[in-house]
Amino acid sequence: MQAWIVDTPRPIDAGPLRRIERDRPEPGPADILVRISCCGVCRTDLHLAEGDLPPRRPGVTPGHEVVGRVEALGSEARRFSIGERIGVPWLGSVDGTCPYCRRGAENLCSAPTFTGWDRDGGYADFCVVDEGFAYRLPTSVDDEHAAPLLCAGIIGYRAWRSAEVPIGGRLGIYGFGGSAHITAQIALHMGQRVHVLTRGDHNQELARSLGVDSIGGAMDAPPEPLDGAILFAPAGEIVPVALRALDRGATLAIAGIWLSDVPTLNYERELFEERRLRSVTANTRQDGEQFLALAERFRITPTTVGYPMDRAPEALADLEHGRFGGAAVLHNG
Ligand SMILES: [Zn+2]
Ligand SMILES: [Zn+2]
Repeated sequence: MQAWIVDTPRPIDAGPLRRIERDRPEPGPADILVRISCCGVCRTDLHLAEGDLPPRRPGVTPGHEVVGRVEALGSEARRFSIGERIGVPWLGSVDGTCPYCRRGAENLCSAPTFTGWDRDGGYADFCVVDEGFAYRLPTSVDDEHAAPLLCAGIIGYRAWRSAEVPIGGRLGIYGFGGSAHITAQIALHMGQRVHVLTRGDHNQELARSLGVDSIGGAMDAPPEPLDGAILFAPAGEIVPVALRALDRGATLAIAGIWLSDVPTLNYERELFEERRLRSVTANTRQDGEQFLALAERFRITPTTVGYPMDRAPEALADLEHGRFGGAAVLHNG
């Protein structure tokens, strides 16, 4: 089969990925072999390709928003049937025994593995997934539109919950790409007022098309104080800006796995009055199930741009350079 690997981490325009021929992976006892139909392109793939995220395994195949069909089952895999459509997400496994797993916070597991970082991911013809970490997908969306739900959607949902905006409250969204535009749809369905602060014409246009309440530049102040905010842009310099936009007692949640350095904060202007700053680290499987159920109920449909699998580097470069709005999705065949 064909697979892309991160060959030499370096800037995307210098070609960090290489396409190779390798054997189909063999499913372990609890694993599923997946024939990949689509794989979403996540900003994490870019951080990995460019070396912002240290490689955990040389020559790993990126991609953790995988939609495909069950091709073969390991000897003990029972959850899905041959031919069934499933999704393979970022969280690849947890130990189930560490203090974090035992208290229901498996997203903080001390020995996790991640798809497309430790385990080979979806920029390929096939991959394997532990059946306990795969998802059934909403029937309301086709393969291309299901792919971005698997990371962009689930992580955005966890960040949205972490921001603790009440029903009918005012949510600020900083940065507006693959994850944010899905999260905004959830928030709007929940009756929240959504203020988008972002650079980039494509992103602003996408926000407008979803009917958000206001749109401003990344460093602008929203038109009203916020009951909570999410930072999706990987830009630490926005942290103080977003904290200043919060009402008393409100939370800023940082959704990304990587953020540039946060400048010095001023306690009085940016944190006092019980403003809170928190990060979001991966997700639990419960987050995933809850989000996918909501996505089905609200018929959440990501805006996507399709690329053939053999043009994966171009999709990543277009993401880096902000050449599209929404989420890129790679297709096999
Ligand atoms: Zn654990
Ligand atoms: Zn991701």
